Amino acid sequence: MDFLSEIIGETVILGIDSLILGFCVKQLSKCKHILDSLQSAPVLDIDSTITKEIKKYPNNVIPYVVVRGLVKPLGNPITSNYNQLVTGVIQRLTIKEHVIARTSAGFWSDQTRTIHEVCNATPFVLSNGKYSIEVVDALAAELLDLDVITDKFEPMSPGVIDHVWGFFSGVRQRGLQTMEEMLRDGSYITVIGELSKTNSGLKIQPPRDGLPLYLTTSTKSSLLKRLASSRDFLRILLVLFGSVAAVTSARIFYKYMKRRRRRLAEEQLKKQLAAGRKERRAHTRDKGLSEVQLCVVCTENPKEIILLPCGHVCLCEECSERINDSCPVCRARIDSRAPAFIT
Ligand SMILES: [Zn+2]
Ligand SMILES: [Zn+2]
Repeated sequence: MDFLSEIIGETVILGIDSLILGFCVKQLSKCKHILDSLQSAPVLDIDSTITKEIKKYPNNVIPYVVVRGLVKPLGNPITSNYNQLVTGVIQRLTIKEHVIARTSAGFWSDQTRTIHEVCNATPFVLSNGKYSIEVVDALAAELLDLDVITDKFEPMSPGVIDHVWGFFSGVRQRGLQTMEEMLRDGSYITVIGELSKTNSGLKIQPPRDGLPLYLTTSTKSSLLKRLASSRDFLRILLVLFGSVAAVTSARIFYKYMKRRRRRLAEEQLKKQLAAGRKERRAHTRDKGLSEVQLCVVCTENPKEIILLPCGHVCLCEECSERINDSCPVCRARIDSRAPAFIT
């Protein structure tokens, strides 16, 4: 068995493990970057001081900033489909199908599939009295806290045919969930993003260097806590998968060393045997062997090996190791060989 097939299990584990490890490292560095940027992001009030503050930064752009204010539509707000009294600036309609599906293991489990999702948005600002900041590209936000306006579940009452169909297809319908979520007009939220000053006024948008835009009801400190806990979780994963990698590598190393030791011992033994053979031969040579008793290839050592199936005893052990295909006497194919004892 060659070494690679001996460590195939460890190689597969190490391969999968390093993929997960790589993913964790990437996520962790992303999480740390966001955490550091958020920690150092200034919290600004939407008032006359903000324009002074922005002038301190190059090109009138603050790369990452925290602002809080009231949501106010720039044009006509979106009216809820389910409640005429509710208006907002972002609307998300989701239809989810609840099914019981048979898993590959043969069990039935509850599953939800989103079959339809629509997002509507209208331009809006974050305001504080007469001062305001326009929120650009709000739908690109990584965190978008919306109020649930409606959440309805309509169960399906399956007939006999549905039951039979469900049994064979492995999917049984349970019902449809319709949900409407909105960022309401007048709600007080925190927006974290890139703040810039243009001719038309102040704008906050998704930052250019990959940092996420947040539109959330939570504060900066609670967001920091959330990010820190996910960073800690990633660290635990990193330690876990890192130890798997270390243990697996150690196992591969141990197997390699074991194999090396075995090979060295084998070589040692071979050398010892060869030395013994040389000594024996020296003895026999002293006795003066006739030409018939000598190997036909080297004509030096005694004949020691029988070739099969032809049965010729014509080679010494050393020459036999070099000749693999056919008998030097009759050209018959060599299937096997064995030591011959001529007394
Ligand atoms: Zn020979
Ligand atoms: Zn032969």
